[in-house]
Amino acid sequence: MARWLAGRQWPVHPLAPGRKTPAANCEQCRTRSHEPSDCPCHARGLWCHGFHSATTELTRIAAWWGREPRAGVGVSCGPAHLVVLDVDAHAAHVPARDRLLPGIRIPEQVDLAGLASGFDTLALLAAYRQEPNPAEDETTLRVRTPSGGLHIWYVNSEPAVRYRSSTGSSPRTALAWQVDVRAHGGYVVAPTTRITAGVYAPLGAVREPAPLPAWLAAELRRTGHVIQASPVPGPRPQRQARPARPGGAQALLQSLVETVRECAGQTEGTGFTEKLNRAAYTAGGLAGAGHLNQAEARQELTEAAHYARPHQTRRSETIIDAALSAGASRPFHPKGLA
Ligand SMILES: [Zn+2]
Ligand SMILES: [Zn+2]
Repeated sequence: MARWLAGRQWPVHPLAPGRKTPAANCEQCRTRSHEPSDCPCHARGLWCHGFHSATTELTRIAAWWGREPRAGVGVSCGPAHLVVLDVDAHAAHVPARDRLLPGIRIPEQVDLAGLASGFDTLALLAAYRQEPNPAEDETTLRVRTPSGGLHIWYVNSEPAVRYRSSTGSSPRTALAWQVDVRAHGGYVVAPTTRITAGVYAPLGAVREPAPLPAWLAAELRRTGHVIQASPVPGPRPQRQARPARPGGAQALLQSLVETVRECAGQTEGTGFTEKLNRAAYTAGGLAGAGHLNQAEARQELTEAAHYARPHQTRRSETIIDAALSAGASRPFHPKGLA
């Protein structure tokens, strides 16, 4: 499967056996803080940092899956020009109606009884636009996930327009509640990958992603998924460029957020929950003492958590909210801060 995908110029990377998370980083990348783009491991043929290591080189692919034949396959969506709608069917608390379809006001007279999952919000969005429901789109590759969700694969036939990944619960960029977008900065589990919970099973006979429908492209644009090209290609802005005083509360938050982000590409059991909990608790304490804006801190923590664990966003947000409010009830004044 990995070879077949790579043959289509879709870069692939190994997943941890039995899991949908990337294979573990090497020891150094587990302990050392650095940007994936600065990592020396890729040149050495290692698979560190999840989709950042994804490749179409057949010799490297043979070596990776030779070393770990039980590894599943992740596809890095951005360079493959893939846009995959990840429809969730998890039991979850249904949010207020203005959070179901961001940017669309659902009138009170619309009866939302029975709405329970991303299948419902996506169907609602399609109905609003008088377009066919993508979940029932038999012209494109659709993959049933072990948890009862659905991956709807499309290919972006205008790759000059790049779409960012998002989670359906993000307060900043989201298409619909319980519908994640996997595009640039994200990966998708390949069909036929088997994890402990079951197999990613293609539906019907179609094995090709169809072109992204124009109306969905317009919806992605409307909801802020288009990545604006930077006018001058130059060095990436440094994190230090943000208005943070060294040693200030913002700098402290940044270092905590970084410990969460660094869990990306590592398998479970590397202290992610503990790190997230500690970061959110401290941020809550700083916000409670007036050193930080709690909403902004929550946003940063949420984005870092989603980056590190894209498949457990609701769990992460539960942890963040609990720890933030626990921390806020114990205001925290670090030394050196007025
Ligand atoms: Zn490494
Ligand atoms: Zn590294």
